[in-house]
Amino acid sequence: MSQQKFNQARFAAALLRQRQRAGLSLTDEMTVRQWWQALSGALAEMLAAAAPAKPAKQQRHVNYISMEFLIGRLTGNTLLNLGWYDEAKAALAEYGCDLSELLEEEIDPALGNGGLGRLAACFLDSMATVGQSAIGYGLNYQYGLFRQSFDDGRQIEAPDDWHRESYPWFRHNSALDVDVGFGGKVSKNDRGGFVWQPAFRIRGEAWDLPVVGYRNGVTQPLRLWQASHKHPFDLTLFNEGKFLQAEQQGIAAAKLTKVLYPNDNHQEGKRLRLMQQYFQCACSVADILRRHHQAGRQLAELPDYEVIQLNDTHPTIAIPEMLRVLLDEHQLAWEEAWAITSKTFAYTNHTLMPEALERWDLKLVRSLLPRHVMIIKEIDRRFKKLVDKRWPGEAAVWEKLAVIHDNQLRMANLCVVSGFAVNGVAALHSALVVKDLFPEYHQLWPEKFHNVTNGITPRRWLKQCNPPLAKLIDESLQTEWVNNLDALKGLEAFADDAAFRQRYRQIKQDNKVRLADYIQRLTGIVVNPEAIFDVQIKRLHEYKRQHLGLLHILSCYKQLRENPKMAFVPRVFLFGAKAAPGYYLAKNIIHAINKVAEKINNDPLIGDRLKVVFIPDYRVTAAEIMIPAADISEQISTAGYEASGTGNMKLALNGALTVGTLDGANVEIAEQVGEENIFIFGHTVDEVKALRKSGYAPLKLRKKDKHLNAILKELENGFFSNGDKQAFEPLLDSLGKGGDYWLALADFASYCEAQKRAEQLYLDRETWTKMTILNTARCGMFSSDRSIRDYQQRIWQTRPTGSSNG
Ligand SMILES: *Cc1c(COP(=O)(O)O)cnc(C)c1O
Repeated sequence: MSQQKFNQARFAAALLRQRQRAGLSLTDEMTVRQWWQALSGALAEMLAAAAPAKPAKQQRHVNYISMEFLIGRLTGNTLLNLGWYDEAKAALAEYGCDLSELLEEEIDPALGNGGLGRLAACFLDSMATVGQSAIGYGLNYQYGLFRQSFDDGRQIEAPDDWHRESYPWFRHNSALDVDVGFGGKVSKNDRGGFVWQPAFRIRGEAWDLPVVGYRNGVTQPLRLWQASHKHPFDLTLFNEGKFLQAEQQGIAAAKLTKVLYPNDNHQEGKRLRLMQQYFQCACSVADILRRHHQAGRQLAELPDYEVIQLNDTHPTIAIPEMLRVLLDEHQLAWEEAWAITSKTFAYTNHTLMPEALERWDLKLVRSLLPRHVMIIKEIDRRFKKLVDKRWPGEAAVWEKLAVIHDNQLRMANLCVVSGFAVNGVAALHSALVVKDLFPEYHQLWPEKFHNVTNGITPRRWLKQCNPPLAKLIDESLQTEWVNNLDALKGLEAFADDAAFRQRYRQIKQDNKVRLADYIQRLTGIVVNPEAIFDVQIKRLHEYKRQHLGLLHILSCYKQLRENPKMAFVPRVFLFGAKAAPGYYLAKNIIHAINKVAEKINNDPLIGDRLKVVFIPDYRVTAAEIMIPAADISEQISTAGYEASGTGNMKLALNGALTVGTLDGANVEIAEQVGEENIFIFGHTVDEVKALRKSGYAPLKLRKKDKHLNAILKELENGFFSNGDKQAFEPLLDSLGKGGDYWLALADFASYCEAQKRAEQLYLDRETWTKMTILNTARCGMFSSDRSIRDYQQRIWQTRPTGSSNG
């Protein structure tokens, strides 16, 4: 397919229709927001008119199911991918409208927490761009991830009403409505089969957003399910005069997709969450089978045409749901149903952390999904035979591998047993999945396990967020690189060109000035754009170690106070991070960073040599302005815990140098950019394990290190908290008598040393710039286009033989 041409007349007509729809006459003044509505609605209308693409011959269609799609603003990105940006800008200018001003009106659809949801969004962009026919299946939450603000440095959460009711990109297709049952009981029918009779049903409505490939004419849907009641208004109740109750059922059903759970890398066994998961899976499985039947295909052919990729275990219930439909609604035998299912599902693992691995209480699951529990028990029963044969008499092995254990349903185990492929998301992580998480499964089915290193879309994360750099690359390479990111290799030759370096450096500088303005508008804090911009942006989590960053800041501050004349390269430390509302320690870390920031930023002795800014409400739109302005990228997780990271890729691509541990994709970034162009520090995965085994004692370490002890003392003695000695107790306890599980103190010295190296190098502007150019030039492999091609070659477009049990 080729690029769709911008048609000025069609655009004008569509705009007019949108104005009329909003009840505006030609002469009415429109607000900027109304203009954004009209523009987006007009584009959505033009895209909806295009014919859907068919999968290439022999290509399996991908169904990417994810609880989260953190898509960010859509309008600007869609214009860019269509290649219509300049034309639309010109057309709007004729109405006296400024396109860039208008794009600022869009509220981020924050339908995800962090990396996992953003990955799903990057993958949709890349699937459309490389021509992988696909649908993304998710949930249409009314409230996205909460809005964050600070009160005396403490996180305050407010609901994020992103106005899905009037979001102009949505198309609701009522022909695709699905009914989903919950609860009730299972009985036998006269053929010996089972019938599930749910206690109640909820309607799923399909709300589609268009996903546009990069200038290739492809548009495919992100389909978000929204809950409503089958009969939202009960006429009987109404007629009986019970006016209030008449609407009640509809209101209760709609609750299901009201809010996104705000946990990242942490599972919470809540009933409503399980209902969301099943609702999404039931709708999606029904939709997949509907399309399959509509194409006139046999059930047995399903794996030849469809693959279902599960983004983490959140949509695992789709597996027993598929089996249920095949067994109970289509009367297939177990062996047939299993053969189809086990060749269709593939699972992406995103974490090794026990607290993030989903386990559901069997009683809870049974109360909502009695038939599914029966099916899962049957899977487990058959699987046990295989395990008993392979490990006769070894009860301990079965305890590890069982899907149901201790009245808990282990979702990752269900995925591995039932799917044809399992993948980790970076080379190191995938190795640990095999070695530490699933060694016995790997012995059973070595061919099931893969690595697909994550990626990011260069459309949003370079071309859209950093237009001056994109333009410089265009001019230098004279080739289309944005859908062929390996072409950036061509920039290596320019690293030795002083004039190029000057331009590259100036772009970074301009981006820093732009960010400094944004910071001042948002927080009132004035930062020095000549300082090093040191950026740590990601969800707040102990394993990500924002508190290690804090310790280094405390160290800088103490040294500057003790020795005001010391040589010190000015720095601005920038944070962006939301903590899950129930994550007490994470919120205490936010409070600590903010209180330290307040003290430092108002210390006249420090001036603009040191500033600390916590940007509130970190989200895709904030990332888009911070990333192009970063000099240093903080990727300092405890080794073995950041499955991949994608923020690390965005920052390196935009010319920030990484200070990082050998964790997740940092390992591959180091390989790509070269050890000399990255600052690696800290304990490695093996050293982390060894240190813990040897009996790590943070309090001893603290006693030995006078400087470290002194900075911790200042957190303890109320110096940063107006005399309140308890303010940071949770954090200090975790670092002391709590045992410092994440080894912040153990990595502190090595971290400060890496920071020192970075600082020294920054003074040598030419060398620094050269290193940043080489980072951009060598990040081609982190395009999510490459990730998608890896999925195609290793998983989606292979012909699996299915699971050997059952
Ligand atoms: C990329 C991205 C993330 C993931 O960041 P990591 O550093 O990989 O954890 C989280 N949130 C937003 C808004 C992002 O754009």
